[in-house]
Amino acid sequence: MFNLILFGPPGSGKGTQSANIVRSYKLEHISTGDLLREEVSQQTPLGVEAKKYMDQGLLVPDEVVIGMISSKIDERHGARGFIFDGFPRTAAQAEALDKLVEFKNTEITLMLSLEVPEADLIKRLVGRGISSGRSDDNEEVITKRIKEYHSKTTPVAAHYNAQGKLEHIKGDSSIEQTFKLLAKHIDKYLLPE
Ligand code: ADP
Repeated sequence: MFNLILFGPPGSGKGTQSANIVRSYKLEHISTGDLLREEVSQQTPLGVEAKKYMDQGLLVPDEVVIGMISSKIDERHGARGFIFDGFPRTAAQAEALDKLVEFKNTEITLMLSLEVPEADLIKRLVGRGISSGRSDDNEEVITKRIKEYHSKTTPVAAHYNAQGKLEHIKGDSSIEQTFKLLAKHIDKYLLPE
């Protein structure tokens, strides 16, 4: 199996590039942000709990997210591989994911980290808030999300760097150009279908 973590700050293009990667390489996409928003819109107990954190730009507690991921991996057994988008987002989540994939007799193959200057991120996210109406894409909450990213999520890159799996990708050019850069790394392991 080929299991990719697509990493980067809010607004770095993980969702957009995940869609491109899924189309080319036929991987299963697991986005914790999408899964959580789905729970919120269906007003499940998990969604009601998660919303309290999301609306403030804070991370949802690890145990909530880890449980959700485990069941999604099980639902899609037989997959060629997974793209994890927005997960892991804390050191505890990274350790949990490593154990989870080991238990399923596989491993994380590669982490690709999208690098985008902070001023661009804020511009992109404010723009997305206007067009999508996402409640956490307003300037006050965006600033908090980026702060959470720096304090809690950056250690995840060090975790996979120590395993020799981290590659940095320049993420501030066009969608097509960024995809080409990502694909160059993925092609070392897996050819497009
Ligand atoms: P972005 O990457 O643009 O911030 P996401 O859709 O990935 O957007 O996440 C939106 C919100 O969902 C986060 O601010 C956080 O509250 C919650 N969330 C998503 N993934 C996780 C995770 N792995 N751990 C904790 N909270 C998460």
